[in-house]
Amino acid sequence: MGKINRLSTDAINQIAAGEVIERPAAALKEIVENSLDASSKTINIWCEDGGLSRILVEDDGIGISKEDLPIAILRHATSKLRPDESGSIDLTNIISLGFRGEALPSIGAVARLKITSKTDNDNNAWEIEVNGGQISEVRPAPWASLNSGTRIEIRDLFFATPARLKFMKSQRSEALAISDTIKRLALSRPDVSFSLVIDGKSNFKANAKQGEIEELRLERAQTILGNDLAQDCLFINAERAELKLFGLASLPIASRADSRHQYLFVNGRPVKDPMLKGVARAAYQEVLAKDRHPVLALFLEVPPSFVDVNVHPAKTEIRFRDAALVRGLIIGALRHAIGNIEIRPSVSLSSQTLGALANNIPNNNIYQRDYSRQSDFGERSFIAQNPHFYEGGFKEAQNFTFDAPAAKPIEYIEETPIQENHPLGAAKAQIHNTYIVAQTENGIAIIDQHAAHERLVLEKMKAAYENKNIARQPLLIPDIIELEPNDCERLLERANEFEEFGLVIESFGHGAILVRETPAILGKTNAKNLLQDLADEIATYDKGMRLKERIDEVLASMACHGSVRAGRQLSGFEMNALLRDMEQTPRSGQCNHGRPTFIMLSLDDVEKLFGRK
Ligand code: ADP
Ligand code: MG
Repeated sequence: MGKINRLSTDAINQIAAGEVIERPAAALKEIVENSLDASSKTINIWCEDGGLSRILVEDDGIGISKEDLPIAILRHATSKLRPDESGSIDLTNIISLGFRGEALPSIGAVARLKITSKTDNDNNAWEIEVNGGQISEVRPAPWASLNSGTRIEIRDLFFATPARLKFMKSQRSEALAISDTIKRLALSRPDVSFSLVIDGKSNFKANAKQGEIEELRLERAQTILGNDLAQDCLFINAERAELKLFGLASLPIASRADSRHQYLFVNGRPVKDPMLKGVARAAYQEVLAKDRHPVLALFLEVPPSFVDVNVHPAKTEIRFRDAALVRGLIIGALRHAIGNIEIRPSVSLSSQTLGALANNIPNNNIYQRDYSRQSDFGERSFIAQNPHFYEGGFKEAQNFTFDAPAAKPIEYIEETPIQENHPLGAAKAQIHNTYIVAQTENGIAIIDQHAAHERLVLEKMKAAYENKNIARQPLLIPDIIELEPNDCERLLERANEFEEFGLVIESFGHGAILVRETPAILGKTNAKNLLQDLADEIATYDKGMRLKERIDEVLASMACHGSVRAGRQLSGFEMNALLRDMEQTPRSGQCNHGRPTFIMLSLDDVEKLFGRK
């Protein structure tokens, strides 16, 4: 007896199912792609319990005939590849979404699948069932209309493969993945109506429109991707060789904390291209901080033979015949659009100044004191004792405790004695309501007030978090924040964890969150922006990771919202207080995004600029 067995069809199908449908969203993606391939104009979807107990999809496509039903559920059976006389097929010219003939048999192998369908040539509808690989016969079925269409029902997904079932995340996470998947598909086909109902609640709806496909795509992208792309955005339109690129990109100011809102469609197929994030970063490099990402909806049209779609069982990844050409096209088009936002003046003197400044960007905390007693700098610090100071101005902070000069309104600031013992010197002026100019012992310091304050808030929060005493501030009137339902879910899932950070939130119905308390150190914050950034942040590491493991990122997101924004006028007293706090705080030489918070220019440099030396 040999040791090698041939596997049964059931076993083969279960194994194949493992790669085609790794979670409910993947099964749903296959079903909806089939509906699109069948020329459907309306696709209605219902899911229950994260898609694990039930998924139902109804379309108005061409349907499956009685004869074809038992074949459709066989492995490697497809209507989408036509062999020529010699029996060979052309894999270089695929225009449908499906072609592998694996989805239906895979789903049937691991779930209870029921397909009901009607074609135009038949007055009756027919149905077939596959339960964990057991195939029923074809039976007549009720059908409400005279029109063709298909209804696919999947119950008890993975009941036949308990091992896989154990790997499912929470029903909430699965529902989120389902919603993302449907939105992706809906973005690609604005000529089709979609509706998604999750556990009885409408999650997403988009109505088909008539018209020029490119315009429809823009419109739908703006509906689905919301504010970031709705008002101000960049229109992308470029061509190179046989490639055409078209779509929308966010302005740098509307960037997000993660790259999940970057969509690429190649010939209408939603694809996940690992290179896209890097390409976007390269294009936005000069206008965006390293950890921010633009929102993108890009549609690439290429000759079918330019891509190999057969490299991934779920067909979400593809290969380009010339990836460098694609990358170049996208970067070029984005840069071109970004370049048109503003025309940068190039004055040689300013670049000289910058050159001189660049040499003086502090590489480390050379101006700072000894932080060996880090754990209590929080309490000693000015901000810690006067959390509302920068926000409310001078009035609220009478009892300051450090040895700053007496408070002076800005017009008298020249009288401040030079504090030569202070590395960042004495504040002399605030310019453009954004930068503080200070006179140091032998030069000038220019401080970015927002960046500096943000860093201070972060360091205070870190210290407070480590000591488990982040002070909370109850809101007199709780704030109700509207966010995308998916983002609400993401945040609510972690409400308990946020509480440890001083942020207390509750569900407030579909698409809304109630904010009861915020971290006191943030002062008055824009809760909506704060929650949005946190939701983005979480989405990037939503792999069952605890917030604790990402303290720096979470706190940084929060700190950013508690900081003195550029554009607020500061009194001389406030400015000096900020400088003294910076000197006391570890790592205050860089803002949370890695940019310097201040630069120093020595008198020598200034004299060189003026040709005095
Ligand atoms: P593939 O999509 O790769 O062809 P599937 O297993 O997903 O393989 O589907 C098998 C076949 O069933 C398809 O080729 C198609 O002919 C038919 N089919 C599946 N879903 C539908 C649908 N919603 N409407 C019409 N035909 C369908
Ligand atoms: Mg298919």
